[in-house]
Amino acid sequence: MKEYNAIVIGLGAVGSAALYFLSKNGTQVLGIDRFDPPHPMGSSHGETRISRLAVGEGQEYVKLARRSQEIWNQLGQESSQQLFCQTGGLLIDSGLRPWTKHGGSSFFDTTCQIAQSEKIQHEILSEESIRKRYPAFVLSDQARGYLERSAGYAFPERIIRAQLDLAERNGAKIRINQPVRSIQQRNGWVEIDLIHERFRARQVVIAAGGWILDFLEKEEKERLKISRQVLHWIAFEKGSPMAELNSVFMWGFGPNPSDFLYGFPSLDGSTIKIATEQFEDSGHPDLLLRSVSRREKERFWEEKLQGKFQGLLPKFERSEVCFYTLTPDAKFVIRNHPQMDQVKFVSACSGHGFKHASALGEELAGELLMRF
Ligand SMILES: Cc1cc2nc3c(=O)[nH]c(=O)nc-3n(C[C@H](O)[C@H](O)[C@H](O)COP(=O)(O)OP(=O)(O)OC[C@H]3O[C@@H](n4cnc5c(N)ncnc54)[C@H](O)[C@@H]3O)c2cc1C
Repeated sequence: MKEYNAIVIGLGAVGSAALYFLSKNGTQVLGIDRFDPPHPMGSSHGETRISRLAVGEGQEYVKLARRSQEIWNQLGQESSQQLFCQTGGLLIDSGLRPWTKHGGSSFFDTTCQIAQSEKIQHEILSEESIRKRYPAFVLSDQARGYLERSAGYAFPERIIRAQLDLAERNGAKIRINQPVRSIQQRNGWVEIDLIHERFRARQVVIAAGGWILDFLEKEEKERLKISRQVLHWIAFEKGSPMAELNSVFMWGFGPNPSDFLYGFPSLDGSTIKIATEQFEDSGHPDLLLRSVSRREKERFWEEKLQGKFQGLLPKFERSEVCFYTLTPDAKFVIRNHPQMDQVKFVSACSGHGFKHASALGEELAGELLMRF
């Protein structure tokens, strides 16, 4: 049985970062994934992810978001590519009734409070100034905006690829297209079973994203939801204000968590990526409906998009399915295995984890290195 200091199960956003930082310190480390990351089956695909520092999901996450941006810039230099694009980020609130998100109170107000207390540079915009600077949005008169210069978008597939490539360059071993079937701790080792192979390590990290369900106890599993999300790339009229939209945006247009749209500047000059959120439980990542029907796109247009953007066309060029792993309080799962003290769970859950994932991987690697 081949032995390692550490094994990372799952090489998505968090696992690839943990593998990279463990390898950087010369640890003998193995990473295993059930697919070939970066891949479109988990929670880290679809071209872009928003990163913002005043994270309304909780002030405790601010330092992770900051550090991840630094890591992406360093990794970008090391791998000679752009991994993060600082476009600025606009948060729009309808101003009608407080918009809630991730189980908190007014997401807009919380974001502003965190920006103030963490000294994150920002501007509060009136409806009139949003309209002037961002003519793409059709707003209600009461709308208000929060603009953060340090926000922008990351390229998730590139980041995962870079973390894995650099980890391998540092000596990490990687097994792909092989799901871990079981783990067992005995005699100071954790044994990992794949279909045809077995490994053992002193420390194991389970960074399996939504498949964390396969490793959790029944009661905890029941507290998590796997919620299907759809990303759409939608065409806009040539020369319309959509072409000039140069910041990432999040827009709470009503009081409910699903009265929400977010989007990105166009990367190809003819389409814009826009999505909403929904919170129904699909049970397990393997049970997700992976196709997007014409009716589903029509409903998205009718219920969420129509009348909200200048120049956006009801023409869907591409749609992709992804999923959130939702915890009841929208926080992450980061803790030791209840029965195996050499095994740690890390899942950057609840639909806001990418912006923190690289820093989480770094923290995790630091913690494990202290245990060797
Ligand atoms: C549509 C969408 C939009 C989002 N937008 C944003 C955003 O704008 N900003 C933001 O910060 N966050 C965003 N998120 C959330 C963020 O992308 C996720 O929280 C984050 O990417 C999750 O990373 P992860 O490493 O936990 O999971 P994943 O990246 O899914 O990685 C888990 C890995 O584990 C592997 N695996 C699973 N089971 C096994 C097994 N048994 N054996 C071996 N390998 C296994 C999988 O194959 C996978 O590669 C979004 C999520 C979605 C779905």
